[in-house]
Amino acid sequence: MEYDVIIVGAGASGLVAAIAAARQGSSVLVIDRKEKAGKKILATGNGKCNYTNRVQTTDCYRSDDSAFARKVLSCFDVNQTLKFFEELGIYPKEREGYYYPNSEQATSVVQVLIMEGTRLGVEYHYSEAVLEVMEPHYTIITESTEDKRRHNYHSEKLILAAGGCASPSLGSDGSGYQLATSLGHSLIKPLPALVQLKSPDKYCKTVSGVRTIAVVTAFADQKPIAKEEGEIIFTDYGISGIPILQISRFLSKALDQGRNCHLEIDFMKDLTPDQLSELLDKRLQHYPNQTLEENMVGLFNHKLNYIIIKEAKLDPFLPSKRINASEVSKLVKQIKQLKLTINGTNSFENAQVCCGGVNTKEVEPSTMESKKNKDLYLVGELLDVDGTCGGYNLQWAWSSGYQAGTAAGKLNK
Ligand SMILES: Cc1cc2nc3c(=O)[nH]c(=O)nc-3n(C[C@H](O)[C@H](O)[C@H](O)COP(=O)(O)OP(=O)(O)OC[C@H]3O[C@@H](n4cnc5c(N)ncnc54)[C@H](O)[C@@H]3O)c2cc1C
Repeated sequence: MEYDVIIVGAGASGLVAAIAAARQGSSVLVIDRKEKAGKKILATGNGKCNYTNRVQTTDCYRSDDSAFARKVLSCFDVNQTLKFFEELGIYPKEREGYYYPNSEQATSVVQVLIMEGTRLGVEYHYSEAVLEVMEPHYTIITESTEDKRRHNYHSEKLILAAGGCASPSLGSDGSGYQLATSLGHSLIKPLPALVQLKSPDKYCKTVSGVRTIAVVTAFADQKPIAKEEGEIIFTDYGISGIPILQISRFLSKALDQGRNCHLEIDFMKDLTPDQLSELLDKRLQHYPNQTLEENMVGLFNHKLNYIIIKEAKLDPFLPSKRINASEVSKLVKQIKQLKLTINGTNSFENAQVCCGGVNTKEVEPSTMESKKNKDLYLVGELLDVDGTCGGYNLQWAWSSGYQAGTAAGKLNK
């Protein structure tokens, strides 16, 4: 069967690319290995789909080539995204810059994309995995995931929108990377990002389940590489929470390079070490007969108090009146700079996105066309661009998908 444009992947970028290409008058086929479209979109924003964000700064998008994402995003920005979705029926709800559909249902987003594609004549084939892309371009070989039957399709233009390899149960199993490399592209090594961190430090088990606001600084070989603030959560295996997800891509890369990594956690960001020392002194003097552990009640979660005392190498039963200045500064150090060794991240299964992917130097940002192969386009998470939490990864998928669809659909005519 012949089409003007074939799109591999009915995820965020592929669904938007299909609409953009069809609006140019092209015949479009979208192929997906899963049994329905947009499985990952359905999981976004806890099922509510945080589909973009009012705040767009350059550090929201990370890549070995940060200028690339900037160029693409300027062609189809937040305002165009909101307008695009509003025209399809998604009435936006904004919470501190984060946009969700007013329905608070990710399924609405998938539904409007499919309704618009169908109205434009886009065909969708599900439960078909693209195995291979061959010449004459483009011959696409697929295999049914149900009965293993093979099919051949032909198209003038091919858009690879197959995602990365994060959360593979939602469809993107890394086969997009194989298709891209078989067509001459190179990869920046894909690694888990927006992912929890593992620690060998024994105290994690003791504080497992404790949630608290903190400032977290990540270090690689003793050099600071990233810093974030927000609610952290200690777990059996290490540490989680939004600030941890945000810095995880830097640690993923540093660990992959064999560097020694650790976090320093500040549980009292509003007080300087001197102010904190003064506060602790005052408390200790006020109740001289309390044990140190009793004296810390009400400062932090009791499990955390215990760990702070232990990591300061102090005795929790020490009477407050016997604690001297150097012991107070040991407590201050642990409260402001608790060290947590990091020796890994959780796997791709737990990661929300991948960092790394197809080298963006091989792609033209104004069209998303490959510089290696004419009429081939690459979009979305498949490329070496990862956003921070907050709607940025979907924005990247919409922007790159729209650019590619428009270019592939138009150039065909
Ligand atoms: C739990 C979770 C929550 C998230 N929450 C948010 C959020 O709130 N906001 C945000 O901005 N981002 C969020 N993200 C990230 C965001 O969902 C992704 O970055 C985005 O969906 C990537 O879009 P994509 O089109 O590149 O790839 P995908 O959406 O992964 O789509 C790729 C599609 O290609 C198909 N495919 C892959 N290989 C083949 C093949 N060989 N043949 C046929 N089909 C193939 C897959 O089945 C899949 O449907 C979240 C991710 C996860 C996992």
